[in-house]
Amino acid sequence: MAEMENLSAVLKKKGELVMENTPIPLPGKNEVQLKMAAVGICGSDVHFLVNGRIGDFIVKSPMILGHESAGVVSALGEGVTNLKVGDRVAIEPGVPCRMCSFCKEGRYNLCPDVYFCATPPDDGSLRRYYCHAADFCFKLPDHVSLEEGALLEPLSVGVHACRRAGVRLGSRVLVLGAGPIGLLALLTAKAMGATHIAITDLDQGRLDMAKKLGAHHALRVDTRDAEEMARRVEAAMGCKPEISIECTGAEPSIQTGIYATKSGGVLVLVGLGPLTVNVPMVSAALREVDIRGIWRYANCYPLALEMVASGKVDPKPLITHHFPLEKTLEAFETSRTGAGGAIKVMIHCDQ
Ligand code: NAD
Repeated sequence: MAEMENLSAVLKKKGELVMENTPIPLPGKNEVQLKMAAVGICGSDVHFLVNGRIGDFIVKSPMILGHESAGVVSALGEGVTNLKVGDRVAIEPGVPCRMCSFCKEGRYNLCPDVYFCATPPDDGSLRRYYCHAADFCFKLPDHVSLEEGALLEPLSVGVHACRRAGVRLGSRVLVLGAGPIGLLALLTAKAMGATHIAITDLDQGRLDMAKKLGAHHALRVDTRDAEEMARRVEAAMGCKPEISIECTGAEPSIQTGIYATKSGGVLVLVGLGPLTVNVPMVSAALREVDIRGIWRYANCYPLALEMVASGKVDPKPLITHHFPLEKTLEAFETSRTGAGGAIKVMIHCDQ
C-alpha cells in the first residue's frame, strides 16, 4: 500500500547511497509528523557521500541524508499547539538541548547536544515522512512556496554571517566564493542595506549568477597570489570593503579576505576547508581586522522567512535543477559534478 511506504535516501557508508523504505515515524511529545515536500542538496550532503566524514563528524552507521527542507504537517504529537495538520512548514534542522548555557544564552547553535539532521549520527529529512520538534518548524504563508521554505536553511547561514559581520545600510562588502552560501550571503547583505558588494569565484558561471543577483563587481580568481587578488578587489570597488565574508574555506581565499578587508573591519569565516590554514595573521593583528567564525545559525529562521515573504530576497534563481525523490542518486551526481551549471539541486519528495 503506497501510503505505508517511506522511501528514504540512506547513506549506508562512504560512497554508497541507497533508496530504500524505512519505517514511517510517529510524532513524539511536542513533535509533528511531516509529509516531506522539498529538500535541497547541500555541499555537506555530497561531502558525506563522497568522503564519509566532515572533520570529526564521521558516518559510522547508515544515516538518512537531507537537512534543507520543508514539508506539510501530517500528524500532531501530544502537546503540539502551534501547528495543525495541513500546515506547510520550513524545518529548522538543528534541535538543541534547550538546557545548556549556550541554549539559555540564545546561542543554541553552539549546543553540544544538538540533534542536527544528516550530521552523523542523526538522520535527516530526505524521505517521504519525517518527524521534527514542532517549535523548530516555521509555518509558511500561502504565497511562500515549499521550495523557498527549504532554501531558508542556507539563507539562515547568510543571515547569521551578515549579523556577525554587522552588515548595515551603506556597508561595503566583499563576498569570497559564489556557491549557494556566498550567493545567499550576497542577497542577505543587499537586503540588510549593503550598498557596494564585490564577489569572487573561480567559476565564471557562478559569477554571472552573482551579477544577476545584484553583485556590483564579480571578480574571477585566476591566481593564488592573495595580495594581488586583494589589490584587484580594491581597484574594482574603489576602496577596501569594511566587511568580508569568506564562503569557500580555501586557504588562498581566506588570505585574500584578510588582505582585502579595510583596517578596523571584519572578516567572517563561513567556509570550511582544511582544519589548519596558513593565514597572514600579523596583517590582521596590525590592522585590527576582526576575524569571526560562524557555525550554522541561531534565531535566524524568522528573519530569513520574513525576508522571503516580504519579497526583499528572492532565493529562487539559485535553484537550477529539480528531481523527484526516486531520482535522488541522479540528483546527487548533478550536485557533485555541477553538471549543467548546477547551483542548488532540489528534490521533491511528494509522489
Ligand atoms: P560550494 O562548494 O558550492 O561553493 C564554494 C565556491 O567557492 C565555489 O563556487 C568555488 O568555485 C569557489 N571557490 C573555491 N576556491 C576558491 C578560491 N580560492 N577563490 C574564490 N572562490 C573559490 O559550497 P557552498 O555550499 O556555497 O558552501 C560554501 C562553504 O561554506 C563551504 O566550505 C561549506 O562547507 C561552508 N558552510 C559553512 C557553514 C557554517 O556554518 N560555517 C554552513 C554552511 C556551509
